[in-house]
Amino acid sequence: MTSVPLVDLAPQYAQIAPHARSVFDRIASGGAFTFGAELEGFEAEFAAYCGTSECVGVANGTDALKLALQALGAGPGTEVVTVPMTFIATVEAIAATGAEPVLVDVDPETRCMDPDRLAAAIGPRTAAVVPVHLYGRPAPMAELARAAGDVALLEDAAQAHGADLDGARAGALGRAAAFSFYPTKNLGAMGDAGAVTTDDPELAATVRSLRHHGAAPGDANRHELAGWTARLDNLQAALLRLKLAHLDAWNRMRREAAAAYRAALDGLPVRLPPPDPPDGSQVFHLFVLEVDDRDGVLESLRSDGVGAAVHYPTPAHLQPAWRALGEAGDFPAAERLAQRALSLPIFPGITEEQVGRAAGALRRALG
Ligand SMILES: *Cc1c(COP(=O)(O)O)cnc(C)c1O
Repeated sequence: MTSVPLVDLAPQYAQIAPHARSVFDRIASGGAFTFGAELEGFEAEFAAYCGTSECVGVANGTDALKLALQALGAGPGTEVVTVPMTFIATVEAIAATGAEPVLVDVDPETRCMDPDRLAAAIGPRTAAVVPVHLYGRPAPMAELARAAGDVALLEDAAQAHGADLDGARAGALGRAAAFSFYPTKNLGAMGDAGAVTTDDPELAATVRSLRHHGAAPGDANRHELAGWTARLDNLQAALLRLKLAHLDAWNRMRREAAAAYRAALDGLPVRLPPPDPPDGSQVFHLFVLEVDDRDGVLESLRSDGVGAAVHYPTPAHLQPAWRALGEAGDFPAAERLAQRALSLPIFPGITEEQVGRAAGALRRALG
């Protein structure tokens, strides 16, 4: 029996392959590898897609978070609030600015930052709050904004390209947003890439300067800010433009696969992912259920040829590098989710048959 991979990028590439080859020829012969028409084109198109006035392409999602946080004033002596249940980059980026990460537990229903716990974590030194749209489901931004008062919200939208809430898309739901275009994300480059979106032209200008050694606009030899090197390559930008045209269709395929899983898993002793938020939709970067004896079930799925995985087995505060952020028991909802989370295969182009095979293997694993 052939296996069902967790992610298969081949169906995506099949849709852009002929154009991708001509993009490579054009850029290789043109010689503009950083900055150029493709980067500018992608920035304009992705801003329009998100519904923001600004998009600044950067090298990866971690840099997008870091530079956006710096532009929001995070640095030594400040604090930035986020969740323990996320990819570790969210916490790393905060610490990389010199700010202190402060964690708030997730809501077990939404698996995103719990608005009821946020107010208590905000203090006079809080520079920003970073909600994560975990697994592609938008965090409850209105409730979080209410709890945050006048502290800026920076979306970690690395898993939520195209998700929407209350009539706006991820990327336009806070003061600014950080995206990753790591290859397996809903919109992925063929290597590392990222972006910051915002409606604030001043904030965008600061990120533009920070990504290029703090250079002044139009004068690469005048360094106005202590910056970094974090540019988005022209080649990756060109590939992202090709893929952006397919993003809505690809997200639709993810949602269809999620609906097929829901039907196929009905009645099993698992907790399915939460439904879409009221007035919003999720884009299933991952299809994450919760199950007892997760490690046993994972083992059984794998031996049955199903590429299941865990996102994430250890919350940030229990990672060796980040022990200072808390102890076991401090964030019970995140810890419980980390013990029970199980990701099933999902990607644009996954077939009904593959979904059926993964669901059947789960039924056997639980049987
Ligand atoms: C992927 C991811 C990042 C980091 O993005 P990179 O491009 O890998 O640096 C940050 N936050 C979340 C939630 C992610 O999933």
